[in-house]
Amino acid sequence: MDERTIIDKLNNKDLTIIENKIKELSKSTFRTSFHLNKKEIEYINKNGLNKVEQHAYEFIKKNLAPSNIPNDGKQTPTHNHPVFPARHATATCCRGCLEKWHHIKKGKELTDNEIKYIISIIMYWIVKEVNK
Ligand SMILES: [Zn+2]
Repeated sequence: MDERTIIDKLNNKDLTIIENKIKELSKSTFRTSFHLNKKEIEYINKNGLNKVEQHAYEFIKKNLAPSNIPNDGKQTPTHNHPVFPARHATATCCRGCLEKWHHIKKGKELTDNEIKYIISIIMYWIVKEVNK
């Protein structure tokens, strides 16, 4: 898979931030229990990483970025799209986990930079899963 993703566009400083956070998450038994299943890997092979990244943006804009999310904590299924297990594995599933793990406060709309960071960590995890 040689498609360029958001990860390839990060500078070294931002990439290091993502790598360190992935390391931190790897200490959690719950976060590391998530993996892509066969169907999700097939989906990526068929549709490509750019399509998955585009979907990640759409999901995040819709159910993580708003200041108030009525079903927060329940908005991310565990499987059926590669982005779903990726969000649980990276603690970007809901605003509660986002605050706890990434120190991004609840109750305010996410900034473009915060969204970029979230998409980056999701895509980093997905690329790592695909290549393992
Ligand atoms: Zn959560």
